[in-house]
Amino acid sequence: MGEDIFAVTLEQTQASSRWDLAHFPTPDRPQAQSASVRALRAYTSEGEDLAIEYIGDGAWSTPDGQASRLTYQLVADHGEVDWNISAPGKDEVADIIDGTYVFAGHAFFLIDWELPRCDVTVSFDLPSGWQVVSPWDDRGDHHWVRETWALGQNMFGMGPATPYSTSSGGLDLTWLVDPRLAPIMPTIESILGDLPAAYTEFWGEAAGEAYTIFFMADYTSDGGVFYDSFAMRIALPLRSADQINWSHTLGHEVMHLWNPIGRTSGRNVPELEWVIEGFTDYLTLKLMAQAGYWDTDLLEQRIANIFRGYYIAGLVETPESIAQAGYAKGDNWYSVYSAGSLIAMFLDAELSQDDPERFADVMRQLAADRGDGYSFETFMARFDTLTDGRASEIYTWIESRPSNAEYIERMSDAGMDISFFVDEVYVRFPACDDQRCPPDFLAPPPDL
Ligand SMILES: [Zn+2]
Repeated sequence: MGEDIFAVTLEQTQASSRWDLAHFPTPDRPQAQSASVRALRAYTSEGEDLAIEYIGDGAWSTPDGQASRLTYQLVADHGEVDWNISAPGKDEVADIIDGTYVFAGHAFFLIDWELPRCDVTVSFDLPSGWQVVSPWDDRGDHHWVRETWALGQNMFGMGPATPYSTSSGGLDLTWLVDPRLAPIMPTIESILGDLPAAYTEFWGEAAGEAYTIFFMADYTSDGGVFYDSFAMRIALPLRSADQINWSHTLGHEVMHLWNPIGRTSGRNVPELEWVIEGFTDYLTLKLMAQAGYWDTDLLEQRIANIFRGYYIAGLVETPESIAQAGYAKGDNWYSVYSAGSLIAMFLDAELSQDDPERFADVMRQLAADRGDGYSFETFMARFDTLTDGRASEIYTWIESRPSNAEYIERMSDAGMDISFFVDEVYVRFPACDDQRCPPDFLAPPPDL
């Protein structure tokens, strides 16, 4: 249709009566992504009109029966909304990159997430000169998607911009980049050149074979990860201090592609968000340090930041437990990220005293044993078996909110010096001959 309106036709082999878009309401757009859907019509398998109504929270239903065909218009007006306010940001909704319209699948395709998963065929009818940028399998006249969730849980683009491809650590990357980010692309390409091999070595296996990545320009930096794609948004104007932030975010989003713990059937298990986010954050810190991306000063500051985050959690968050915090991740940010990072760090520090590879071995074994996915209970049971009960001990200890004196003592055992003053936290790696200082488990290369 016109440049800003896409006509969408959805045909299902199995009829259903409910469809959803992701729903990230903001003050400007309380109906969130759903506000961009117009002229929605539903049809039975016989082609008869069926009433379809919006029932709130990004959902529609057909109260009088089941539909197997929907038609609608999707207005690409997402740029009018600030998706950072009470929502994850445009990296998880939509953007226009170099003239190409980019959408999270769940902002574009109405999906009945309860239907049995099946493969999906997507046919695009686009203006001449436009191309599709997606992780889906391009089969000439259509794209093939391996299952329904990979339709919603991926980012894709349609438009005139041309992506480019690179390969690193067994990973093929397809890039679509906002041209305003050109000055930092050598840095980003260097990070994405180094990390896949480092992450594969840590986890003992590659994350996948191919990812499509989208780099957007915004006024703050953050990222979002999907099944076979991820998106980053980076603040303009480009600033060197912000590079510290987005480098870590990039490493974090990429680590999500490797860290398989905490998801069941593609869904995050809320009680394991502290592993999904906190362990991912800690491992990003560790492996980027080892790859030479953080010098000792920055590493010390980042560790101090983790303690500060957990201190803030104690002031403003009231989850029943670290596991329960994951049910309202947005409200319990620090109880998820900071607590999970602390648990991972202390466990790594203590397991590494005997064997520097022990923590990596445990994480690999947890990944290998996950089967269809863990619950909190099955995860902790396995974790304890692999760590002689240390996992539960440290989890319970962090949850008990240790005193500063307790932190100081246990950090000292890990070869680190830490000091607290109200909300200030300072960490130092004391100089010493012992190979634990700076801690072996976090050591950046010696020439830094
Ligand atoms: Zn994350």
